[in-house]
Amino acid sequence: MPPPEPPREIRRVLVVGAGTMGRGIAALCASRGFETAIHDPIPAALESAPGAIAALFEKAKARGKMTDGDVRAAVARVRVAADLSDAAGSADLVVEAAPESLEIKSAIFSELDRRAPAAILGSNTSSLSIGKIAGATGRPERVVGIHFFNPPLAMPLVEIVVGPRTDARTVDAVRAFVGALGKESIEVRDSPGFATSRLGVALGLEAIRMVEEGVASAADIDRAMEAGYGHAMGPLKTTDLVGLDVRLAIAEALARELSDERFRPPELLRRLVAEGKTGKKAGEGFYRWEGNEARPVSRRG
Ligand code: NAD
Repeated sequence: MPPPEPPREIRRVLVVGAGTMGRGIAALCASRGFETAIHDPIPAALESAPGAIAALFEKAKARGKMTDGDVRAAVARVRVAADLSDAAGSADLVVEAAPESLEIKSAIFSELDRRAPAAILGSNTSSLSIGKIAGATGRPERVVGIHFFNPPLAMPLVEIVVGPRTDARTVDAVRAFVGALGKESIEVRDSPGFATSRLGVALGLEAIRMVEEGVASAADIDRAMEAGYGHAMGPLKTTDLVGLDVRLAIAEALARELSDERFRPPELLRRLVAEGKTGKKAGEGFYRWEGNEARPVSRRG
């Protein structure tokens, strides 16, 4: 089935940052009929992006979500943009998916403010203040959080984060855009960790403290939430998938901004990150990973 007509206000999307999330977001947009450009200042990241995006389409095909024809059409809708200004000028929406740093994101938004004059500027940040990011631009009313989940092609939710000065027209356009992507949206006021990161990290940190205290193994704590509470995935496996380093950074930001001890990162989390055991991407976190297979590791604090 061909993708539905994209909403009128947003037809051309520029994704800035071609890492895990940027590739997935670009693949999702292209699969749903949006003309999609992707930019990254690191040449290697940009060069490997088309192959990685094509691999995401093949996975979606294997899951029965796309046909051969869908894949061909989606591939044709994606282009890589080595030059930011080249793609920014014609974009209706920019989705920034660069590293989780206010300094980096502020520099990007300041540049986008000049180079993408007509676009809504969205950030895929998991925890940073949309108000602060918008402060780098001269049009905070057109800046919004558009928080996707990994992998964007498969995960059903997008969290729309409404900054203190984001206007209703921007939120309406982004809500329609998310609907056209086939996703469900929730709207959250710009507050630390929004809804998803704040709750997800709270559960994850408590689970880590329970491993530290020897309450149960990581695998049994995960099963407690999966089999006992119907969660699709336990908090420790989720932490491995998100990345222990990513979760540590979010916990530190939440502890600081909410002045809340509950978000102070447990020592075990700090130690594993320092040892490079950052989860699935590193082959080890609370589990040992071989591809998508997770094997339990014995851990104590
Ligand atoms: P990543 O490290 O995989 O990718 C980041 C990309 O940004 C890299 O390709 C890097 O080359 C590029 N980059 C570096 N400096 C840049 C710049 N100045 N301008 C543009 N691009 C630049 O990171 P990721 O996991 O894709 O995360 C990206 C964003 O998405 C972060 O804000 C993160 O918090 C958020 N996020 C991540 C997840 C997740 O599960 N990984 C989920 C939701 C949101």
